[in-house]
Amino acid sequence: MTNSASRILIVEDELAIVELVRFTLKSAGWDSDVVHTTADAWEHLQQHRPQLILLDWMLPDQSGLKLLARIRADRNFSNLPVIMLTAKGMEEDKVAGLDQGADDYITKPFSPRELTARIKAVIRRKMPEHAEMAMTAGPLELDPVSCRVYVQGNQVEIGHAEFKLLKFLIAHPERVFSRGQLLDKVWGDHVVLEERTVDVHILRLRKALGEAEFLIKTIRSVGYMLSEK
Ligand code: CA
Repeated sequence: MTNSASRILIVEDELAIVELVRFTLKSAGWDSDVVHTTADAWEHLQQHRPQLILLDWMLPDQSGLKLLARIRADRNFSNLPVIMLTAKGMEEDKVAGLDQGADDYITKPFSPRELTARIKAVIRRKMPEHAEMAMTAGPLELDPVSCRVYVQGNQVEIGHAEFKLLKFLIAHPERVFSRGQLLDKVWGDHVVLEERTVDVHILRLRKALGEAEFLIKTIRSVGYMLSEK
């Protein structure tokens, strides 16, 4: 098996989407291979190990979810990063996909920027050799090794809780999290804190970030997200 370290496998039967994805990946520096069915995908995987798979849900031969289950059950591929592509509004599918071991999902139609951000975030999370890499978003840089944060290259003063919060948000860009989810993910679900605590730390985080505070968005009546948009 060849180790196609920087190649991404696209499993998608809609040619317009294939073209968009290929072009986006190319612009971001990834080469890609394309197959249109789960059978071809499985065959491809026997020869090449991609860095990540973009897997459509609805494919002509069988559901992408079936292929995902097969990938996760195979010890050669159990750790391979997989992002599911789902049709708009299929909330139950997303949950099922994540339950089956998808690392993330992207809802069609998606922007090139969102696609690249999600891929980078998943690779960062999944690949140990990338885990220590600095994370960036716009003018912001977070170094997980030294626990330092920079805005436009200048180090900023940031508290421990705000650092953890920022690290979580920057690893999951363009996704909204409720206060409850942030408490669970950042502080751990054994900690009993009021949801208002999150607001306090978001406030401090924004203050610490100064001119980069625009990255932390409030999504009214839902929660918070990190977005460059
Ligand atoms: Ca399809």
